[in-house]
Amino acid sequence: MELENCQSVDDFMSGLVKRNPGEPEFHQAVREFAESVVPFVLEHPQYQEAQILERMTEPDRIVIFRVTWEDDQNRIRANRAWRVQFNNSIGPYKGGMRFHTNVTQSVLKFLGFEQTFKNSLTGLPMGGAKGGSNFNPKGKSNNEVMRFCQSLMTELHRHIGEDTDVPAGDIGVGAREISYLFGQYKRLENRFVGTLTGKGLAFGGSLVRTEATGYGCVYFCEDMFNHVGESIRGKTVGISGSGNVAIYAAEKSVELGAKVLTLSDSSGFIHDPDGIDAEKIAFVKDLKEVRRGRINEYAEKFKSASFHEGKRPWSVPVDVAMPCATQNEVSGDEARTLLANGVKAVCEGANMPTELEGVHAFVKAGILYAPAKAANAGGVAVSGLEQSQNALRLSWSREEVDERLKTIMREIHAQCVTYGSKAKSEIVNYVDGANIAGFVKVAEAMLAYGAV
Ligand code: NDP
Repeated sequence: MELENCQSVDDFMSGLVKRNPGEPEFHQAVREFAESVVPFVLEHPQYQEAQILERMTEPDRIVIFRVTWEDDQNRIRANRAWRVQFNNSIGPYKGGMRFHTNVTQSVLKFLGFEQTFKNSLTGLPMGGAKGGSNFNPKGKSNNEVMRFCQSLMTELHRHIGEDTDVPAGDIGVGAREISYLFGQYKRLENRFVGTLTGKGLAFGGSLVRTEATGYGCVYFCEDMFNHVGESIRGKTVGISGSGNVAIYAAEKSVELGAKVLTLSDSSGFIHDPDGIDAEKIAFVKDLKEVRRGRINEYAEKFKSASFHEGKRPWSVPVDVAMPCATQNEVSGDEARTLLANGVKAVCEGANMPTELEGVHAFVKAGILYAPAKAANAGGVAVSGLEQSQNALRLSWSREEVDERLKTIMREIHAQCVTYGSKAKSEIVNYVDGANIAGFVKVAEAMLAYGAV
């Protein structure tokens, strides 16, 4: 059903589900967005007349291709890869690449859709995209990962470019993978340009990019607390994941005086009532970034900690929860458990980590709840700063990049307050705030272009 005839989110969603069968993650991301934006669009006829919402939920294009590579036993292997170029209304496409066995077109469409509005919130000129493959990097040798990345880039390079589409990392794509991808891109193109971000510092990477998503998430959390006259200092924090986002969210939380109690991976979570301090975080960095080990080793090393196999950390009472692993890792029941245990703030480092039922519970409870679009935008923001430095052929200092990151997170917070609360005294609805603020900028650009 077209939006001009539709009276509700359900009407809009039934059309979207029909047009995109079998894509539950994409449906979920659009529904969460539509619950904020449909009422706003119904009040603004210019968006309805131009069918903005229908156009915005249709990716500009999706490239799907086979990646053939050879493993260490000389067997030929084949994976599927995608690049979902969702919307380039406000700048070249920008978004990470994910390597994980559960990558599907639905997952990448949800990520590309959310990326469009997250990038809009940063205030930088970046469109939205996402890509990846069902390749599983776990247990593969460096040479296997290199051959896979080179083969993937052999096709991908013709669809990307510094003014077209600029990929970065995500789950399963860290410094090692970006280096292999960029090395092959440079070889095929015979040009040294900033077409990937998250690069090594020796070849065009930006200081603070590695830390940016985790740090930015904590800066946003602190902005929310400051807005209600409080601080993260002295609070207990529960974090899931132990990858790039989780590690640096833990590091910045500790730096700002909070006590981090949990970390996890897909095998279970560790609970350390003594707190995961800087020294213990250094152990996790080595475990995960260098040795590529499992989180249970933490409990073997530090006797204050316990390991809970196959479980998620949300039963541990904390003041602040930061889901930093993957989508749908906080169920409706787990959200209610967090609330019953007195959680004051939930700040999403991962993309769409909370099921819709949980989102509704957090908003209804009136806690400080920062959705991923706002809370984890620091990563792509510093990727945008990496692009600027590459274009200028300059490198900014750590302090300069960190200061810009803080400013960007503060400005995203301010936009959420503007669009997420009607009166100064009102509790800010950060979900509405982030969705509507992200929407308006993209929608205005689309209106200006006419029917394209
Ligand atoms: P990493 O690959 O570095 O780490 C992912 C972590 O999450 C690992 O600890 C991993 O455990 C765990 N994890 C992954 N999948 C699952 C699963 N299905 N169940 C349980 N645990 C899981 O990824 P990142 O830290 O980069 O990304 C984490 C989240 O943050 C993602 O949602 C990503 O989209 C989002 N994000 C990342 C940004 C970035 O700059 N990197 C920017 C913005 C958002 P295991 O090793 O056992 O798989």
